[in-house]
Amino acid sequence: MRIIKRLHDVKEKLIFLTFDDGPDPINTRPLLDVLNLHDVRATFFCTGIRAEKFPDYLLLLKENDHDIANHGYTHRDLRFCQSKVIADEISRTDRVIAEVTGEIPLFFRPPFLRVPILFFLGKPNLRKITVLCSRNGRDYQRDATADNIYSRILPGITPGDIILLHDGGEDRSETIKTLSRIIPELEADGWKFSLLREHLSIPSPE
Ligand SMILES: [Zn+2]
Repeated sequence: MRIIKRLHDVKEKLIFLTFDDGPDPINTRPLLDVLNLHDVRATFFCTGIRAEKFPDYLLLLKENDHDIANHGYTHRDLRFCQSKVIADEISRTDRVIAEVTGEIPLFFRPPFLRVPILFFLGKPNLRKITVLCSRNGRDYQRDATADNIYSRILPGITPGDIILLHDGGEDRSETIKTLSRIIPELEADGWKFSLLREHLSIPSPE
């Protein structure tokens, strides 16, 4: 499976926002309000369990033209798991998401960014791209104030960067505050935000 951390081919001021662990009944909507206010699209890596529990929020993402991606079903660490366990976690999540949105996700992000060892041996054989990140806001840490998240993302930002933040998990008001600041600042400096699916595709099977 192809594994990417950033889009090296991108030369213009283009970056990719991604959000993990949702959908979330408290955070997803206010986060969407900020994104939509600035007409910014993002990729949401959802867990199967939460997609199943909160289908309305999944649909809300889809209706607002954001992209929905796969973050495993239970959010367990898949690094040392067997092929069948990995395939189950991913395909179960695909099914839940497709049931609600009608689309099977193109992208997978392993929980905790821990890539299954078997991926390096080409197993399981899934038609997906694994997406890690090149800038981690680490908004799940205890010291994740809006200022700290900002300083982990912005200085030295590079075309093609993939930014990792969270809409799921716990209270994400600091994440939302950070976004209200970085989006207008970056836009004023000529940066644009895009969807991964507009720049990456999976080759058709032979
Ligand atoms: Zn996660």
